[in-house]
Formats: sequence, C-alpha cells, structure tokens
Amino acid sequence: MDWKQITDYFARLDRASDRVSVQTFGQSTLGRPLIAAFISAPENIRSLEKYKEMQARLADPRKVSSDAERDRLIREGKAVVVISCSIHSTEIVASQMSTQLAYNLASANDDDTLAILHNTILILIPSPNPDGVDIVANWYRKTLGTSTEGREPPELYHHYAGHDDNRDWFMLDLKETKAVTRLLWKEWFPEIVYDIHQQGSNGSRFFVPPFYDPPNPHIAPLLLRQVGLIGQKMAADVTSAGFRGVLTNALYDTWWHGGFRTAPYFHNSIGILTEAASARLMSPSNVTREQLTRSNTRGMRSAMEAVTNFPEPWPGGAWHPRDIMQMEMIACHSVLSLAANYRADYLRNFYELGKAGLASTADGAPSGYLIPAGQGRDENVAKIVGALVEQGVEVFRLDRELHARHAQQILRRLNSMTLGRVTSSALSVALVPEPEVREVPAGSYVIFLNQPYRQNVLALFEPQVYPDRTTATGDAERPYDVAGWTLPMQMGLDAPAILSIREAANERKLTLIKNENDARSDLGLALWTADKSPIANPIKSGIRAGIYQGPRGNMDEGWTRYVFDAFNAPYESLRDPGLIEGNLRTRFDAIVLPSDRTREPADAESADPPTGISPRGLVNLARFVEDGGMLICFDGSCGPLIKNWKLPLKNVLEGLRSSDFYCPGSILGLKVDTSNPIARTMSNDVNGYFINSSAFELIDKPAPKAAALSEGPTRDQVRIIARYAKDNVLRSGWLRGEDRINDRIALAEVKMGQGRIVLFAFRPQHRGQTWGTFPFIWNAINLASGKD
Ligand SMILES: [Zn+2]
Repeated sequence: MDWKQITDYFARLDRASDRVSVQTFGQSTLGRPLIAAFISAPENIRSLEKYKEMQARLADPRKVSSDAERDRLIREGKAVVVISCSIHSTEIVASQMSTQLAYNLASANDDDTLAILHNTILILIPSPNPDGVDIVANWYRKTLGTSTEGREPPELYHHYAGHDDNRDWFMLDLKETKAVTRLLWKEWFPEIVYDIHQQGSNGSRFFVPPFYDPPNPHIAPLLLRQVGLIGQKMAADVTSAGFRGVLTNALYDTWWHGGFRTAPYFHNSIGILTEAASARLMSPSNVTREQLTRSNTRGMRSAMEAVTNFPEPWPGGAWHPRDIMQMEMIACHSVLSLAANYRADYLRNFYELGKAGLASTADGAPSGYLIPAGQGRDENVAKIVGALVEQGVEVFRLDRELHARHAQQILRRLNSMTLGRVTSSALSVALVPEPEVREVPAGSYVIFLNQPYRQNVLALFEPQVYPDRTTATGDAERPYDVAGWTLPMQMGLDAPAILSIREAANERKLTLIKNENDARSDLGLALWTADKSPIANPIKSGIRAGIYQGPRGNMDEGWTRYVFDAFNAPYESLRDPGLIEGNLRTRFDAIVLPSDRTREPADAESADPPTGISPRGLVNLARFVEDGGMLICFDGSCGPLIKNWKLPLKNVLEGLRSSDFYCPGSILGLKVDTSNPIARTMSNDVNGYFINSSAFELIDKPAPKAAALSEGPTRDQVRIIARYAKDNVLRSGWLRGEDRINDRIALAEVKMGQGRIVLFAFRPQHRGQTWGTFPFIWNAINLASGKD
C-alpha cells in the first residue's frame, strides 16, 4: 500500500468505528499529510481532550497540587502508548501491518481487546516518513518481476536525511521530527513509545530489548528496567506463538541520543525498539544455514548458536513479509496488554520520574547551564533555544544583566513557581569550572536542571564520556551509533554549567521562553514560517554553487542540501551525466563534494557499496579547478582526489587497526589559523565533528621540473587552515590513539592551476547539527571567483 491507500484506509476506519479517531498532525517534507490514529474505547475517544490534559499534568508534577490529586490522576488516567511504523521506509512491513492492527482493535470484542481499549489510548502512527513510503512503494511496483525486485531504491528515502531521519530527534531539523515531537512531548506525553524497525536479513529473526551496553548514564534505571520488562514480554509472546530466532541484549544500545525510541528516555517515558529480519521489501527471501552461521554482532557470536539471550536459533529457509507482520502484531499486543494490565504502575512511574527531575541538584553540582549573550552567533543561539523549547525543555531569558553576588538561591523559587513570567531579585551566577562569580549580560539564556526533563538537558549539554570498550581480538567495540554529540559544542556556542544562581537586592527578571520563535524575536531575527527559514543567504551573489549527487542515495549529500536550503543558499545538484559532460567552469564557480563514505547503519544493511565519481568525472573536475574553480571536499571524498591528482597530502589514519586508532562520531578540538579567509569570523579554537574521518599530513615530493600537472601541486601550494589540537583534542565522545591525530591537518587548501581545492578531513555539516563549522563552508564558497 502506498501512502494514499494507507491514509484512505484510516479515513474509512475513522468513519466506520467509534473506537478510532484519525488526526492529521503535520506535513512531510514533500507535502504529504502526517496522520495518527487514536484508538481506544468509544467513551475515551469522546474524551480525548480530557485525557490529554491529565497527561500534561502527570508529565509535570508542578501542575499537580496534592497527593490526592496525583492519586486521582493515576486512578482515572489511561496509559498512553505510541506505536510508530517504518520511519525507515525500506523497513516497510510495519506500515502495511498498521492497517491490520487498527482493524483488529476496532472490530474485536474479546475480553483482552476490550481491556486494552478501556485502559489505554493508542496513538498509532502508520509512518512518520510518508514520503519514503511512496518512494519505496513506487520503486517496488516498478521493479516487481524484474531482476531488481526486492532491492532498495537507489535514492534517499527521506528527501534530506535518508536513514538519518531517525537521528534528528533532539536537533529537530526535519518537518517530520518537529511535528511528531510536538504531538508527543508538547501535547500527549505518552508513557510508552514503541518504534518498529527491521534489520538485515541474515541474522536473528527479531531483536527485542533489553539492549546492549553501554547505557547512557542519564537514563533513569527505572526506565531501563521497564524497557527490559516489555522486551521480555514481547520475546515470550513471540516465542509462544512458535517463532524462533528471537534475540535480546545484543547490538542495539541506549548510549546514543536522537532516535525515535531514545527521545522518550529523556522525557521520562519508556522507549522500545524492535528489529525484525528483513525480507526483500515485500518479496520473500531465502536464508541459508551458512549465512546464519556467519552472522554475528555484539552480543551474538552466530545466529546458529543457542545462548541465554538467543535460546532458540531459527534454522533458515524461506522468510516472508507475513512472518515479519505477525511478529510485529504480537509485539504490539504485548505492549498494549502490559499497558492495560499495569496501567496505574506506568502512570505512577511516569509521574515520579518527572518529580525526580524537579529535585534540587546536590551541593557543588551544576544547577543548570547558561548560554551567554553577545557570542556573535545569534542564529545559532536562536536555533538551540528553539530546538530545546520544541522538545519541552524549559529555557529562561535573563532580562537584565547580573553582576551582584551572594544571597539565597533562586532554585527553590523556580521549583514552586507557576510557569510563566517569573519575577525574582537580582541574580548572580557562579560558573563551572571557574568558581568565581562572573558578570552575565542581559539577553543570556538560562536552562535550569530542576525541571521534569532534567535528564534531557544533561544528555545534550554535558560532554559524553564513552567507555573504552574492546573486543576479544583487541579491536574497538563499535558503538551502535555516535559516541558524542554535545549540542552547544556542535553549534559553536559557549554554554558553561552554572554552579548556582543567587539573588541580590535589586529587582530582576527571568522570562520563560514559550515557543521556538521567541528566541528569534528576542534576538531581533526574522521568524520561521511553516515552510521558510528566515536565515539570510550567506553566499555572495553571483557565485554559482553546485553540490555533487552520486548515483545512489548519500546521506551526507542530503544533509548538505538541507544546510544549503535552511540557509536559503542557492545551489544546483550536479549529477554524473553533468560531470561527464564537462565544461564545468562555465556553469559553476564552486562545487561541493559531500563525503561519499557511507555511514555504518547497523539496522539496515546496505545492499550496494557506495559508488564514487567516475574516472571521466574526475578528469573534468580537475579541469574545473585548473580553470579557476573552487572545489570543496568533505572527509571521505578527499581520498580519491589526493590519490588521483597527486596532492601532497596523506591520510595518516588510513589502514590503522581500531586497536590503534578509533573515533566513532565524536567532537574533536581544532586549532585554527584565523588569518586564513576560510576561517573568517572563526575563533582559533573550534570543535569539529569526526566520524571515522581523516587526518592529513604533508608529504614531500620532488620539486617539479616544470609546472606539469602530472606531478600535481607541491607542498608550497598547500595552506593549512586548521589542525587537530595538540592536547585536549577529545571534547566529547570516544577517541582511542589520540597521539595519531594530535596536530595533524584537519582543514587545508591546495592551489591547483588557477583554482583551489579545500579539503575537510572532518564533517563540517554532519547531520545538519554542526552549526559551529558551517562558516568554513560559506567562507570557502565565497572565495570562489564568481561570474562577472
Ligand atoms: Zn531502522
């Protein structure tokens, strides 16, 4: 079923059943409706507004006036469960399953179903990425009966993010994540969120929680236990229905932040992930014993070996989409039946976790974070404040500067205040790690830790310290996703922890930021509208920029387009036929080559290797540079140019074993030569994003006899713009083998003919999050010679 068929079905179900109410809660990037089906007993469906209001109070215990009121909310409330299907569109079965699940709940009259309907409100999202449902449905229909039947479509299944559409849940760059976040964390505050995925074809048949190590230290232990309980119930129910190959405690961890099922942990909710083995889209596959024997991952040595967390291997054979659908239906039932039977426990735990967030921090521990005004990066400040507010984090603006010192803490006052405009006495702050009291300008933002979503603030503002984990062979044990993401660091913002905020004599004010546009208007910036970012185009007029788009979907390319579009920077996508056609200099002044090394998506094995630029395309790109063009290369795209064009650089990390060097998705310190125009407006210490990226050193080459291109540029033609820091290079995440990277080149410019090549060893626009390093890109483009 494509998206129209799915939405038509839900519209009919809405009309036919008083147990179902379908709401449109937003629009996708390409304009399709985002829908959610609310499914519950008819009397609950008629009172959705009442239950929504009760959830909002359970989510924020400051809105609950007494223990008696708390007990009444727990007694009368319903457990709210979100089930979301196929955010990853090639993991297509759940979106199809959603109609059957809804039909069953709307029509069955057994005691079990009636108890679920009475005690829970299900918010069923058939897909939070409807554009991708259609990309896959259209592709599948087109290729059905051909040799490519069941293969993945050769394009990103989200317009910008592809698979990374499930990496955006704290940054909220994408329309889909914004809309779902509003539904979940501003309106409905679900106790349980179940996000349904599929994994590769040859391993376990079904992964369910508990998860693998390491856990994120900011997730409440009670949540991890409840996650485990639901996962084990799913495992038992699926096993009891006769399915084999169910795996727990493997591969998937709770370290990373930013997924559909990880965002709940930082909103005091239970987040569940399941991963069914994929078929070939909607066609069956066949899996051999040998393939299963070879399949191994963290926590599972072989898919044919029975162990405690994988007690019954599946013997192999035919695997059908129907198998996937049945397991997912059973798992949905497991969640709903637990939620119905232990309704009051889920509500009470949810309330208590929010309450724990409100407690004052221990003496000597930070009580919050400060984003000081006057950093010269108002767009970045507006973006971070907006993203925090959109996910329900409380942010206050300081209306007057602080310079007084001493007096009692304001924290208790904030604890008991009613939300809105808060008047307090003058404030002074002590910053961590500097113990002295510092002056803080008006217009700064304060994020206190004593709020229901305290853990979210900690998880976004603190540096991540990933444990050094090693496999039996001495290699680094790869984390599921990135190791570090500290948001102010990625955004190039100073955001010190506050030890305490103290009152003094004068009258001062803090104002709660109510919506994502508040910070923009505070800062005198234009507001975002539904479709249009207000950011002024940073590229000089007359410069014609191109972004290379390879023949297969490349997320780094998609995010590059996202950043250009968000900044209203004009560009043209340049594809292989255009590259091969040549005459690039007549059409472009600057060309960006996104990193073409595909990431490591562990939950959707890519069927095809990444493809690079064709030899003919490379020749034409070299001519473009010689003719005065500006070529900008990100990370993985640098290697082929260095080799083919004999650039006097070498990636010193190439070929190293992960026992010697390893750095998966972390933030590293860069020392910048601020006299270089590419570093204009940058400070000499910048945080750069490194994800299994590169580090260069200059290599000696014999002096060329003539300026023959075949010898390539010499060392004299290289200017170094940034190096990885000599010490304290790891800022957040995990770095093994620091000495391999200390003081190595992170950003360089090479002159070739009349033009130049700018080589980023790191990722300056990673996932649309690294606002701190975007200026390098704009500056480089603006150095191109435009058309005159
Ligand atoms: Zn997935």
